[in-house]
Amino acid sequence: MTKAIRIHAYGGPEVMKWEDVPTPDPGPGEALIHHEAVGLNYIDVYFRTGLYKSPSMPATLGMEGAGTVIAVGADVTDIAPGDRVAYATGPIGAYATERVIAADRLVKLPDAIDFATGAAMMLQGMTAQYLLRRTYRVQPGETILVHAAAGGVGLILCQWAKYLGATVIGVVSTEAKAAIAQAHGADHVIIGHDHLAADVRKITGGAMVPVVYDSVGKDTFMHSLDSLSPLGMMVIYGNASGPVPPFDVGILAAKGSLFLTRPTLATYTAKRADLVAVAGDLFDAVISGAVKIRVNQTFPLAHAADAHIALEARQTTGSTVLVP
Ligand code: NDP
Repeated sequence: MTKAIRIHAYGGPEVMKWEDVPTPDPGPGEALIHHEAVGLNYIDVYFRTGLYKSPSMPATLGMEGAGTVIAVGADVTDIAPGDRVAYATGPIGAYATERVIAADRLVKLPDAIDFATGAAMMLQGMTAQYLLRRTYRVQPGETILVHAAAGGVGLILCQWAKYLGATVIGVVSTEAKAAIAQAHGADHVIIGHDHLAADVRKITGGAMVPVVYDSVGKDTFMHSLDSLSPLGMMVIYGNASGPVPPFDVGILAAKGSLFLTRPTLATYTAKRADLVAVAGDLFDAVISGAVKIRVNQTFPLAHAADAHIALEARQTTGSTVLVP
């Protein structure tokens, strides 16, 4: 048997149940993994509340894990039992001691990276990689704006952008988070978003920024648009405060012929070659020390509900790992 955190209906953290489920057999092209560590991500909250829908119920939450391959199905040639592996992206099912997943979604974890770090970094780190290197290719000398700068994706974005030679303005909610963001590459920190555009204007001497990475959504969207320079790129990649309501696209013209994108990691790693390239770039950044993965909270997997409560209450910083 396998132990898993499952939901039978959408709702608050109380819908998460620690249950016995039969250990699945890997079919053709699949691998069975024993998890050593599971990553906590904000997307897990969206799947628990029903903002994002599970294809079936009951559903095992979770998009990210690291562990050891126990068995592989027919036609799997790249991965073998005993391999140390990690993955991010769907389908959901990571909050379990064992799971089956398509083998072509796995990457081998370098020996230099332990399981907890692997589980903490795959989803948030590959997201930072594609946001900075593909969605908008940040250039040395540019000044960029990063929301939730002390969070999981945020701390990685700050460090990586700094390594690329950018000046980083981070947005956070508290003084304590400001100090954490500054210790990880944020050159300037803005606390709260009520006067965001005015603060950005002051910091940039009126130039504003060519790109905003906004994962907060509803509460910050308009403030972020107002912080862009003409022809700037608005990257809205999350909904921590709720999804952005429908709006008149004419606003983009009025605010300076702005670009708007709503990217997801799934698109940027859909092809195996892209997944391997993005993960490889991330492993290099971490092994070189350019990006440090901060596992600032650890919870037993059985108590994943407590981790969700902390994440939604904005009490976490950096990454969080669930231990089976
Ligand atoms: P974080 O660690 O960043 O946690 C969320 C943070 O958002 C909080 O700590 C808080 O920081 C901030 N926040 C602002 N408003 C709210 C609110 N109303 N409720 C809760 N939090 C709020 O989480 P992750 O690193 O896991 O994810 C960050 C974001 O990136 C999420 O929105 C997630 O969905 C998105 N994401 C998108 C991906 C994609 O490919 N599109 C992939 C990965 C993540 P503060 O207190 O400083 O404001």
